[in-house]
Amino acid sequence: MLLGAHESVAGGAAHAIARGRADGCEAIQIFARPSAQWRAKPLAPEELSLFRSERATVGWPVLSHASYLINLSAADPTILAKSRQALAEEMFRAEELGLDFVVLHPGAHLGLGVEAGIAAAAASLSDLHDRTRGLRVRLLLEITAGQGSCLGCRFEEMEAILARARGGHTIGICFDTCHAHASGHDLSTEAGYERVFEAFARVVGLDRLLAFHLNDSKTPTGSRVDRHAEIGDGYLGLLPFWRLVNDARFRATPAILETPSGPDKLPSFARNLARLRALKGAPRPAGPPKSQALPEKIDPRQGRLFGSE
Ligand SMILES: [Zn+2]
Ligand SMILES: [Zn+2]
Repeated sequence: MLLGAHESVAGGAAHAIARGRADGCEAIQIFARPSAQWRAKPLAPEELSLFRSERATVGWPVLSHASYLINLSAADPTILAKSRQALAEEMFRAEELGLDFVVLHPGAHLGLGVEAGIAAAAASLSDLHDRTRGLRVRLLLEITAGQGSCLGCRFEEMEAILARARGGHTIGICFDTCHAHASGHDLSTEAGYERVFEAFARVVGLDRLLAFHLNDSKTPTGSRVDRHAEIGDGYLGLLPFWRLVNDARFRATPAILETPSGPDKLPSFARNLARLRALKGAPRPAGPPKSQALPEKIDPRQGRLFGSE
């Protein structure tokens, strides 16, 4: 795997490359525009050229994560139009920066139902295809935890969206380990790991799995609650990460940490990259995930977290 992290662009996009270097990344993810705003001012030509030259010196795959405001399944026509416009802008911005992939959560049906949500997401992706013909950058839909009415926690939903969208064959998948586990794809055992990737290969196809987000989960499998933990500290434990970093099928796949800051409030990426690298070629990690010993804080029927989290 090409191991890396989601790096801040504070001070300019090129700073993300410097931060990635300091952390020991071989790939990075950035926000190419503000993640919580609809509008973004164009990138200055100097910022663009600085980013492109810095990136050329490292040669890493670079992903951007699209704005969390975008909902391709929105029923409200204003939100839907804004979402489609913002995603097209994300793609053009990523192309300008020379990025490889834009990662997007597929959408939330907000009560309309999964079927209607899939149809709406596919229609929006068809619209995107028409607006962004000829771009080199590729869109990746991210596996979600299935929180609330979010689409994309079941492999069949992803497949259905891609099959129905015009240009769907060009769209790949970003596999977030925390989201997959929380949504009910139990990755914490060897048998679970085999089952989950066998199912993914059968339903979606491994040739579409173009990036990973590597996060442990603070919530158990089936909770449908998205809370990232540091590698080995959550309900996944070290075993699935040991499998992943030694899995020849994913040797050249970018894999991005989105782990939370530690108790010291400092970014945890260097520490977690070291944990992942220590698993390469290492013997099988012993013991169940640490979190299996923690008291249950989730009501799986409600899919929400109790307490002060
Ligand atoms: Zn993610
Ligand atoms: Zn998440």
